[in-house]
Amino acid sequence: MNLKDIEHVKELLNTPQKIAIIPHKNPDGDAIGSTLGLQHYLRSLGQDAVIVSPNDSPKFLKWLPGCETILNFEKENSQAQKALQEATLIFTLDFNHLGRVGQMQSFLEEATAKFIMIDHHQEPSDYAIVTYSDVTMSSTCEMVYNFIDYLGDTDKITADIANCLYTGIMTDTGSFRFRSTTSKTHKIVAELIEKGADNTQIHSNVYNTNTPSRLHLLGCALKNMVILEEYNTAYITLSQEELDTYKFQKGDTEGFVNYCLTLDGIRFAAIFIENKEEGIIKISLRSEGDFSVNEFSRLYFQGGGHNNAAGGKSDVSLEETAAYFVNLLPNHKNDLVK
Ligand code: 5GP
Ligand code: MN
Repeated sequence: MNLKDIEHVKELLNTPQKIAIIPHKNPDGDAIGSTLGLQHYLRSLGQDAVIVSPNDSPKFLKWLPGCETILNFEKENSQAQKALQEATLIFTLDFNHLGRVGQMQSFLEEATAKFIMIDHHQEPSDYAIVTYSDVTMSSTCEMVYNFIDYLGDTDKITADIANCLYTGIMTDTGSFRFRSTTSKTHKIVAELIEKGADNTQIHSNVYNTNTPSRLHLLGCALKNMVILEEYNTAYITLSQEELDTYKFQKGDTEGFVNYCLTLDGIRFAAIFIENKEEGIIKISLRSEGDFSVNEFSRLYFQGGGHNNAAGGKSDVSLEETAAYFVNLLPNHKNDLVK
């Protein structure tokens, strides 16, 4: 954010606003951590702030302080619509184009509020009066910390805010191991621990919540894994029937795709997950090194994200999607096999 943006935000927050804060659909730790962290901060300034999420959060995030205040657009539709209509200021966090909020898109497009974007994905759209976009950032949570810092308010970071922001930084950096993790990230994380983030407890709350059926689903996913050594690529498929067999709950498949990358030599990984209700295959792509899955997803799967982690979707069957994927690999052999 430049000085002009900071002054602009200060000016906006100097008057009482009705604020709606929006995470992307199927919110992850960074989306929920950042929206909650920002909500706590804005409320401490005396602002009226509410989070409106396109759909529910996964169970492993429900313990986050304030999570029970989030309006779920799917379940609390009229309240959520009202919050969007009445808002004078809308923050969109952890996404950068309005197609990422599902059914909520038209309501955001019709909203009369001013928009502020805080996000670290590539190629932001131009819908906000203040766009704080930085693709070098580990997470939106790190950016919310910076945002509070720019406003001169790090002394207002409470243990609740610290717990929320720590969670998103931890989940988006794969527990501080991805390339986007910088010394600055660690300095911020250290600061958050000093302000009360309970790092051991957070890790346990997020990662030690397995159910037997989730581990069995993981077993199924790993059994389904296809390794294409010629392309240093591995992928996993999960059909709706398999998800049903293992009592799939939102968030259960989080992290499955990463197992492919733990194979020696594998640099490109994908998971294809059938969603019969939406009639789509949800796709997660991961890479190691400079093969950009963001570009790959934009080219072939109506999605995007970061260089090493992106998502997308397909409208054909699970089998056809996997076959389409395999057929694309020869075009990229030079980049995959170096
Ligand atoms: P995941 O595979 O964990 O769902 O997402 C990986 C990254 O890609 C995240 O930063 C996420 O926000 C982004 N992402 C996931 N799905 C989509 C999508 O359909 N479109 C775009 N533009 N980004 C996505
Ligand atoms: Mn993120």
